[in-house]
Amino acid sequence: MTMQKIVLASNNAGKIREFRHLLAPLGLEIIPQGELNVPECDEPFGTFIENALRKARHASRITGLPALADDSGICVHALGGAPGVYSARFAGEPKSDARNNEKLLAEIANHTDRSAYYYAALVLVRSEADPQPLIADGTCAGTIIEAPRGDGGFGYDPLFLLPQYDRTVAEISADEKAAISHRGRALRQLVDKLRETQL
Ligand code: IMP
Repeated sequence: MTMQKIVLASNNAGKIREFRHLLAPLGLEIIPQGELNVPECDEPFGTFIENALRKARHASRITGLPALADDSGICVHALGGAPGVYSARFAGEPKSDARNNEKLLAEIANHTDRSAYYYAALVLVRSEADPQPLIADGTCAGTIIEAPRGDGGFGYDPLFLLPQYDRTVAEISADEKAAISHRGRALRQLVDKLRETQL
């Protein structure tokens, strides 16, 4: 059986690692877009779903392969849902997880409500002009602690405490993160849809 190739419309090393882990059992060969010389795509929209569709179409157009995109972020209630779609570049360019985390701590410092959630929108297109993209999403709730803990995961994970574990997402294993994360949840939903569909 030949493995179905899918281009992953992301250059984020943390996301690439998680998708490889999540998709390994499914017989899908995930190729990060950087390996196929796909240049980074703009993300001009105010919603995760529109940005994910944009990224998936862009990668599929350039490679001729089915493409999977993830647009995700952290939404902090006390900050009115920010940084949201701007999570990757919250502290400006060049993107830096460390500077983003510092900025988040500074902005939330005077708030008592430190609750937040991660959100991921996934879009899979079979071709650039696919009229029926597969769409899935997932959330994961937590609170922002006052200083980073742990060195697993990526992005805001060292600040994101999971109350049910009393650990940050950077302190849990890859398997545990896959089981409860926004990305893991969205991907299981997408896989259910994929089972009913011909790629
Ligand atoms: P995107 O690549 O434009 O979708 O940006 C996603 C950004 O959201 C990342 O760069 C992180 O800052 C944040 N993010 C998304 N998912 C996670 C996660 O699982 N852990 C930590 N940060 C995340």
